Amino acid sequence: METILLSDNEEQLSIAAGLIRKGEIVGIPTETVYGLGADASNEEAVKKVFAAKGRPADNPLIVHLADFSQAQEYTVSIPDLAWKLAERFCPGPLTMVLPKNEKIPMITSGGLDTVGIRVPSHPVMHRIIELSGRPIAAPSANTSGYPSPTSAEHVMRDMNGKIAAVVDGGASEFGVESTVISIESEDRVRILRPGCVTREMLLELCGEVIIDHAILHELEAGQKAASPGMKYKHYSPKADIIMVEGSLRDFTEYAGRNMTSGTYCLIFDGDEEDFPYRYLTYGRNSSEQAHWLFQRLRELDDIGAEKVYVRAPSPEGVGLAVYNRLIRAAGFEVIRI
Ligand code: AMP
Ligand code: MG
Repeated sequence: METILLSDNEEQLSIAAGLIRKGEIVGIPTETVYGLGADASNEEAVKKVFAAKGRPADNPLIVHLADFSQAQEYTVSIPDLAWKLAERFCPGPLTMVLPKNEKIPMITSGGLDTVGIRVPSHPVMHRIIELSGRPIAAPSANTSGYPSPTSAEHVMRDMNGKIAAVVDGGASEFGVESTVISIESEDRVRILRPGCVTREMLLELCGEVIIDHAILHELEAGQKAASPGMKYKHYSPKADIIMVEGSLRDFTEYAGRNMTSGTYCLIFDGDEEDFPYRYLTYGRNSSEQAHWLFQRLRELDDIGAEKVYVRAPSPEGVGLAVYNRLIRAAGFEVIRI
């Protein structure tokens, strides 16, 4: 199949929406990362998404709506706390897991009786949802296991020939996927995947915000994942990623003892003065690091890095999302100095 590249004008967005209505798959920009959009209520279309990504069938897709009130059409019940959170965070990078009804097929929810609902703020994604008149299932538009795409070019690289079209809407603003939460009571939520809606932001509306154990720890054999995506090796470039936690001086010394010809370092902006080894930088603070991380992991593959020592980010605020993606990219290999 030929994958067409669409721009983000109204006429081209109608083409994208028409393809989705016909059960085709389209790469779409969102404020988090690019998504692989399909009609969430069409089983055949959703099957194509799993096939294009090579995604395990038990890893559920998030369903994207134009307005949170539409969640009533696809769920059994919506707790008051969800409405309160929606008022503050929708549209935006927050996904709420809610009990689904029969309008969302089991294949979309990876066999679960719940569905993750998000209302994206990106005007292109928003318009495509409106024009299609469908709930849009959209996982990150990467090959399963590889770093998520933050540009139309990344999507083309992974999906060319496998999907109908990609809409180019420029680089994704946040750069990491949405925060996924489940609602445990009218006062308590659990973060299943950290993102740019942080624990601190949620605490302004919830009495208790639990960070699921699987966010920073490897699941043990046989342990059930609250968030199925946490089971799999994820976000990994071809290069072997090793996180190194410590001061710049400790990091530099450690890297120096271990550098070989195919080794690179991924350090913070501001670290590079006199840094003696081959490096890329990925930002000065957590928001910048979220924005650049996946782009840099892909660039490291492009330049042929075999092994990468990454200076570990702060796990605070948005940093928790960056730390979570990196620790998975590293297969939990962390050197603490
Ligand atoms: P992606 O589609 O790549 O953004 O990944 C979506 C992730 O959200 C999945 O891997 C799950 O970990 C999580 N997720 C989506 N739907 C649910 C759900 N119904 N219950 C729990 N986690 C979910
Ligand atoms: Mg993904």
